[in-house]
Amino acid sequence: PLLGETIGANLRRTVEQFGGRDALVVRHQNFRATYRELWELVARAAYGLIARGVKTGDRVGIWAPNRFEWVVLQYATARIGAILVNINPAYKATELEYALNKSGVALLCLARGFRQTDYLAILNQVRDRCPALRAALVIDSEWDALLAGAEATSEERLTEIETKLQFDDPINIQYTSGTTGFPKGATLSHHNILNNAFFTAEGLGYTERDRVCVPVPFYHCFGMVLGNLACTTHGACIVVPAESFDPLAVLETVQAERCTSLYGVPTMFIAELNHPRFGEFNLSSLRTGITAGAPCPIEVMKQIQTRMHMREITNVCGMTETSPASTQTGRDDPLEKRVATVGRPVPHAEIKIIDPATGAVVPRGVPGEQCTRGYMVMLGYWDDPDATARAIDSTGWMHTGDLAVMDDEGYVSIVGRLKDVIIRGGENVYPREVEEFLHTIPGVAEAQVIGIPCPKYGEEVMAWVRLQIGAILTGDDLFLACHGRIATYKIPRHWKFVDTFPMTVTGKVQKFRMRELATAELRGASA
Ligand code: ATP
Ligand code: MG
Repeated sequence: PLLGETIGANLRRTVEQFGGRDALVVRHQNFRATYRELWELVARAAYGLIARGVKTGDRVGIWAPNRFEWVVLQYATARIGAILVNINPAYKATELEYALNKSGVALLCLARGFRQTDYLAILNQVRDRCPALRAALVIDSEWDALLAGAEATSEERLTEIETKLQFDDPINIQYTSGTTGFPKGATLSHHNILNNAFFTAEGLGYTERDRVCVPVPFYHCFGMVLGNLACTTHGACIVVPAESFDPLAVLETVQAERCTSLYGVPTMFIAELNHPRFGEFNLSSLRTGITAGAPCPIEVMKQIQTRMHMREITNVCGMTETSPASTQTGRDDPLEKRVATVGRPVPHAEIKIIDPATGAVVPRGVPGEQCTRGYMVMLGYWDDPDATARAIDSTGWMHTGDLAVMDDEGYVSIVGRLKDVIIRGGENVYPREVEEFLHTIPGVAEAQVIGIPCPKYGEEVMAWVRLQIGAILTGDDLFLACHGRIATYKIPRHWKFVDTFPMTVTGKVQKFRMRELATAELRGASA
């Protein structure tokens, strides 16, 4: 059955059961806490927030990279029933102003800065234009003051607040990755994310003995829900290697902390597997993990299982709007399902694949738009009823915008995003299929395929390729490697060799930016 409790009540149960066990290790801050210690910090932060006037339903923004304070605030706000607004660590002034105003953030908790960006300077630029913003709390300098402010409140006051919370109240506004354009704010309840975290952890077989390496950003549902919250539902330990993704820090952390589980989007696993020092690390403690967020090439999936020892790695597919998981591969699934599909619907989820033009369910084996229904579907986009109505139909189905196929046994495979399908001379080319093939060519570290405008065919196939260190390959070599192996119309006619791809902070390749850049370059070349 689904859990019918709030996030705070769930954490309390874990603390009662596993109080002495490690809850959170943040390597770059030299921070370690057991569940009992985490609970103490969460309580004091909650008292501190109450003392600063934060009430149930208030929006509290958090703008920081992965740090322990993030986790503490995640649970402190949940205990008060304040709505946590996750703000992308890469935002600059315009985006911050939009997010603060759009969600009506009353208190912003922020780091002093991140990488080259001075958050305080940015906040000062926009502050006058954010009328709802009552206060800001700089966690680098005001953390101790927040916890000390606790004296003004008491456990009784907090309990009084907690008893009034409902598990289907909104608790979180999470922004989507911005892979296809401007990020959207999904409003999620305790019920949405707590159950999604719990059942994903069940799918991974988590117990209090698991130590889960989380290099994905907390601001995103992958880090905050499938990472932090999935761990705390089962008494497992959250292990954070660095403020933001760093492949070497991940390898070092897995070895030093004897992690049993590791998360990543495919580009992260690729970076770890291709790291020049990969061979120096002992990763044999790993058992499981999650790849999610973008299609994982079969070749990479195989290497994760062999070279990284993650025999029970699961592929989770979902979206911010579905809390996020909607399908997951099972640990006992046959190998071919575990490498090539995103699994079957998670418990209590319904999935259907429809013809986007007619809305009719397509036969098994035929690609169509994936729709998801169940407890995990968001309450809606924050303050955007029109966008919500476009995404969730009147019978509760969330239209994902993803093209997927369901096989006879109910396993789902992602074909790609509806928006990314290339139509070349009337034929559909699914970038994912071409990318899969390119990844089998020796010397190719990563390949991304897009459609670019073409006067003759409407669209033409283009591949951006990152080569492995030392590999020397030209576009002609790659064309020849494809020739006779995939249908001629699918073979990229344009090749671009790159070191990096335009990416979101969540590590997803932004194909709309690739298209913009490639189109501009081609226009320049023909002018
Ligand atoms: P935006 O909606 O802002 O353009 P986004 O869709 O990338 O960005 P997220 O909510 O972070 O924002 O990601 C959800 C999307 O990621 C899904 O719709 C799907 O396209 C893709 N995705 C997630 N998991 C997987 C997976 N395991 N395999 C393939 N694709 C995945
Ligand atoms: Mg999306």
